[in-house]
Amino acid sequence: MDASPRAHFTTDICVIGGGPAGATIARKLAQLGHQVCLIEKDTFPRPHIGESLTPGILPVLDALGLRQTVEQAGFLRANQAIIHWSSRAERHKTGEGEPGFQVDRGKFDAILLDAAREAGVRVLQPATVRAPSQPINGEWTLDVLPAGQEQAQVVKTRFLVDASGKHGLLPGKRQRTSASTLALYGYWHNVKFNSPETRVEAGANAWYWGAPLPDGTINACVFIDPKEGKAGSPEERHQTYQQLLAKSTLLQHCLSGELRSPVRVCNAGSYYHDDPVGDQFIRVGDAALSIDPLSSQGVQTAMLGALQASIVVHTCLTLPNNRILAQQFYRDRQIETVSRNAHWAARFYAEQDRFPDASFWRQRARPWLVKAASLDEQETLLIPAELKESTRVQICKQATVIPTPVIQGHVIVEQPALSHPLLERPVAYLGNQAILPLLASITRGDSAQSLLQKWGKVQPRARAAEWLHWLWVNRILVTYESSAAR
Ligand SMILES: Cc1cc2nc3c(=O)[nH]c(=O)nc-3n(C[C@H](O)[C@H](O)[C@H](O)COP(=O)(O)OP(=O)(O)OC[C@H]3O[C@@H](n4cnc5c(N)ncnc54)[C@H](O)[C@@H]3O)c2cc1C
Repeated sequence: MDASPRAHFTTDICVIGGGPAGATIARKLAQLGHQVCLIEKDTFPRPHIGESLTPGILPVLDALGLRQTVEQAGFLRANQAIIHWSSRAERHKTGEGEPGFQVDRGKFDAILLDAAREAGVRVLQPATVRAPSQPINGEWTLDVLPAGQEQAQVVKTRFLVDASGKHGLLPGKRQRTSASTLALYGYWHNVKFNSPETRVEAGANAWYWGAPLPDGTINACVFIDPKEGKAGSPEERHQTYQQLLAKSTLLQHCLSGELRSPVRVCNAGSYYHDDPVGDQFIRVGDAALSIDPLSSQGVQTAMLGALQASIVVHTCLTLPNNRILAQQFYRDRQIETVSRNAHWAARFYAEQDRFPDASFWRQRARPWLVKAASLDEQETLLIPAELKESTRVQICKQATVIPTPVIQGHVIVEQPALSHPLLERPVAYLGNQAILPLLASITRGDSAQSLLQKWGKVQPRARAAEWLHWLWVNRILVTYESSAAR
């Protein structure tokens, strides 16, 4: 701990919070050559909810150069989940490819924070940042209180990263994207879980999640509507939790074990911030947005968002003329993440058919955030007809080219990109291929075969076939209408 009373120092970038999001952005920005200080209030390892990491974490760990370290840390790896949810679906869901992890978050978060230190980040820990006031003359002044000391030290910084988790340190307006949900959870010992799978179950007015952790402890969690279960005082919480666990098929046998922690409660609702980024600040991880825990993807979402944020901050500091573009890029990615997750969660809640009339389920079975689609709903649901080699095609009238912010190397730049109502976002590249020249090579009335031949001259035929397939299933290419037919 390198803090002294009333010490005063200046840094280019200050990150508040050393969870997955804070450690990720700090490491990346230090690797990009910035002077970074990170302040974390707790001593690590510390407990944290969010122990189930899906395989989607693997590419994120690759991008950080930490996959091997995490793989060697001794976390559990299960490629199955036991799901009591819909009467129509299988109860054992096997994942394809490599499994994710069942981690001890204390240890996982400590690995990430050590990796930030190793990249040159100056870490003040344990030390708490008090609510920062607005920057003066382009500089934030932060009061930082090292644990066990009475006097705060002062840290000055040009750029502030709020990675302080759900409570968020910077003020701002949040939009809710789910029904209010509380999570009640506790850590159990001496419970026999015969296998390392995650358990997920639908109850009458609640849903359950449980999983063994690497040391054999079981985390059993119940998600409820705050109106339907008393959880104010520790006693009420304990009672509500035990009553609900007793109703679960998959987790009730925890009650024959030993509860080694108090019953904890936290807000498990989803939200996003209206202003995730400004000229001198950025919010990352749960400080920016929170998705439904049903997906078990909060950690990977926080880390992926932090990787994107590192490029945005790097652009703002090194290419100030692209500042607005970089901010737009970040806002777009945040809204996309929220929208995709809200739709996914609503679909999953709607699949639950064991308690169809309960308001708990009805409230969650519709997305709170609906992205306007300009194509007819019916049309989007239709799978396009099979594309034959003889099929003659043209570019869909609704496809346009618009300037879009994209990542190029380590900065955000503007590029022309293809936009279409069916695309989640404008697309500038298909793999390594810029999309514009590809579109320019298509003549109205070309057959699928002639396109394959044209592109096959400069690319392997398999790649040309992939491009054609992508353009067809996304309705960028549609069946040719001759002028006589129009
Ligand atoms: C009930 C529940 C279950 C979940 N289950 C899963 C799951 O199975 N899988 C999954 O991937 N995700 C899960 N999540 C989500 C996941 O826990 C979070 O998305 C993830 O922890 C976000 O990381 P973060 O770095 O943004 O925030 P955090 O991990 O919360 O880190 C924030 C850090 O900031 C520090 N801090 C806060 N204030 C200050 C301050 N003033 N000064 C200094 N430091 C400060 C804190 O001490 C903390 O270490 C779950 C969430 C909930 C609510």
